[in-house]
Amino acid sequence: MLRINDIRKDFPILDQEVFGHRLVYLDNAATMQMPEPVLQAIVHHYRNDNANVHRGIHALSERSTRALEDARERVRSFINARSSDEIVFTSGTTASLNMIASAVVSNLRPESAVVTTMMEHHANFVPWQQACEHTGHPFLVAPLDEHGDLDLQALEGIFAENDVALITVTHVSNVLGTVNPVARIVALAHKWNALAVVDAAQSIRHEAVDVQAIDCDFLAFSGHKMGGPTGIGVLYGKLELLEKLDPVQFGGEMVDNVRLAGTTFAPPPLCFEPGTPNYVGAIGLAAAVDYLEALGLEDVRSREKQLTRYAEDVLHEISGLHIIGMPAARAGCISFTVEGVHPFDLATMVDKLGIALRSGNQCAQPLLYEAYGIGNITRMSPAFYNTFDEIDTAVSGLRRVIELLRLAV
Ligand code: PMP
Repeated sequence: MLRINDIRKDFPILDQEVFGHRLVYLDNAATMQMPEPVLQAIVHHYRNDNANVHRGIHALSERSTRALEDARERVRSFINARSSDEIVFTSGTTASLNMIASAVVSNLRPESAVVTTMMEHHANFVPWQQACEHTGHPFLVAPLDEHGDLDLQALEGIFAENDVALITVTHVSNVLGTVNPVARIVALAHKWNALAVVDAAQSIRHEAVDVQAIDCDFLAFSGHKMGGPTGIGVLYGKLELLEKLDPVQFGGEMVDNVRLAGTTFAPPPLCFEPGTPNYVGAIGLAAAVDYLEALGLEDVRSREKQLTRYAEDVLHEISGLHIIGMPAARAGCISFTVEGVHPFDLATMVDKLGIALRSGNQCAQPLLYEAYGIGNITRMSPAFYNTFDEIDTAVSGLRRVIELLRLAV
């Protein structure tokens, strides 16, 4: 059981007023707040141990390097990778997916297809679409069913009817909250001799992300969605695959020998981390892993599911409010439209009551424009530190604003 009153003390940012109202922060799918131990780990490093990594043979540089490599090991154990050499630090999910799309697509079998799904964030759509446009590989998009679940039968058909070389899929949708059966999708891909990439940006806090159990070839996530700082993320890749990939960005530290005649590269993960890495970000991310593990990952996940289910139930009662998607398994967020009310007006006005929701297309235009024909939605996304009272406050704020906006029409 989580002790919410104690946990709230770890997040002083939540204890503030916005426009004269107590802040109710329900935008955690965009960014989760950082707990004190993460903030302290970052400040402690800058205050005591800061120096560039891998370069100097002096005490501070060695401490910095050790802290970075300890963080890599911490992340390895968190996602159950076989080796810390499989953990590449990047600036976030977007950077990880861009890197893997650039490195992999040009090496796929000629004419083979890349498959993604209709529920992807632009970060797991546009890099692949662009890479396919440049290389001429067909780019196929798997449809959803009427509940907002991936249509697995249609996906099987795509594999059966095309030479698919790679599928990239989100573990949890940042709009519908759909939890995809990623291990099953990976097994399907492997059956057809295709690579499988998983976007774990949302799932990293809501679901167990065990790369060996999922058996994905690559996986990406960001620190800031799990209580770590911004500007740090991870690309996981099976070592035997990373070893075969050519680096796509170049510079210091990632090389072995640089001569006029040519350059040889360091082994993974270093060859994918050119320049000064965000080592303090990695240290902050490791502190976030420590924090979540100390709370109990199962407890964190089950509280988030309870809060999300509760929010879904109470939002449902608002007349004219339509929840987008009723997936078989939901995690982390609920998106909705309200008849006669623009999502931007709604989010702007509840903000004046101290309630932080997100409105827009959530970087998922294929889903919202092409699958649902809606455009923009409002999204509520609780984290374990939220309370049921906060959800009630947000819902009564929404009711009040909806009434006002309807009167104004
Ligand atoms: N994929 C999904 C499913 C996401 O929710 C997000 C962030 N909203 C991203 C990718 C991109 O993450 P980042 O902005 O941290 O790179």
